Amino acid sequence: MNRPPAGGTASAGGAHRVLVLATHNAHKVRELRAILAEADALGPLEVVGASELGVAAPLEDGLTFQENALLKARFVAQATGLAAVGDDSGLCVAALGGAPGVFSARWAGGHGDDAANLALLLDQLRDVPEKGRAAWFECAAVLALPGGGEHAATGRMEGRLAYEPRGAGGFGYDPILIPDGFNVTSAELEPGQKNAISHRGKAFRTLAPAIRALWC
Ligand code: IMP
Repeated sequence: MNRPPAGGTASAGGAHRVLVLATHNAHKVRELRAILAEADALGPLEVVGASELGVAAPLEDGLTFQENALLKARFVAQATGLAAVGDDSGLCVAALGGAPGVFSARWAGGHGDDAANLALLLDQLRDVPEKGRAAWFECAAVLALPGGGEHAATGRMEGRLAYEPRGAGGFGYDPILIPDGFNVTSAELEPGQKNAISHRGKAFRTLAPAIRALWC
């Protein structure tokens, strides 16, 4: 692992502080940077993804989004000696009792095969009528401090599932989730529009004051 100076180093402009995003998903890193910058949480913080530091991804064996977010944040904070935020998120379908849930990224077997996951889910729900297609994205986020403190937050984006994928933005199940109040999928929204209403946006805006406290 490439280990930057623990906790922060003295620099000409004062303490140089680093926040590690405990994810290996480049789309999430982009979204999180934008959400936290918009929430004015980053200030002088340098934000790096776990993969940029060569930190391996921990085994995600939690049974809830909260458990997985916590284990990712703790793992990266311990491995780097730096403040780390972990998030775990997924799509929950009412007609499937909340599945895929924590299994969203590996619903079709292989981890992170977005196209296969989405195709399988659409196939499973082929005969489910409009009124049974309620679904939501859920996100749990945790800030873990190298000294042991932790802060947690959650967020949801409710909507319904389309019958066919639409839109080229976002990632994962974005092309089939139509957020409440919209007639387009999450993949058809501008990134800023999605972040304003998304599960991840809500969770990380709740966490923003604790992140801001790292440098204020
Ligand atoms: P994680 O990286 O373990 O949290 O897995 C999250 C999985 O849930 C992703 O691979 C996607 O399939 C899905 N997911 C989470 N957030 C979103 C989102 O904002 N849009 C689309 N799919 C998402």
